Amino acid sequence: MDLQNSSFFHPKMVKPMIRIPESIYRRMVEHAQKEKPLECCGLLGGKDQTAQEIFETQNVARSPILFSMDPKEELMVLEEMENQFMEIIAIYHSHPHTIPFPSEADVKKAFSFDVPLIIISLKERDDSIVKAFRIRKEAIYLEDVEVI
Ligand SMILES: [Zn+2]
Repeated sequence: MDLQNSSFFHPKMVKPMIRIPESIYRRMVEHAQKEKPLECCGLLGGKDQTAQEIFETQNVARSPILFSMDPKEELMVLEEMENQFMEIIAIYHSHPHTIPFPSEADVKKAFSFDVPLIIISLKERDDSIVKAFRIRKEAIYLEDVEVI
């Protein structure tokens, strides 16, 4: 028995989770690989904690350690989501060289909204690692990502 993934030890009911269709998950990782060595960023739109669409945005910071969305582009994406009756499921960005854990800058930025932050780490050359976090003032919570 795989204890790590056992539902006995990790009851699904207690943890919030994000569900991402495999095709969207793949596009998100490809976006990260395409922008490397710079960070990429974008949004996932959907319903009921389930992603239905990926919206790639420009990282106007053009940095390997920071991301910043163009406010105009972000607004356009949010309008598009609203037109399609979607909510923001998550904001994603990549860490081309570091582990999938929020940086100090990520934490500072995240205080202004309560949306899960997905980080795609490309630190391991052949393997991308995707993790989701919910950043609150008191702590950073890991959020489960299920690929469907
Ligand atoms: Zn980051």
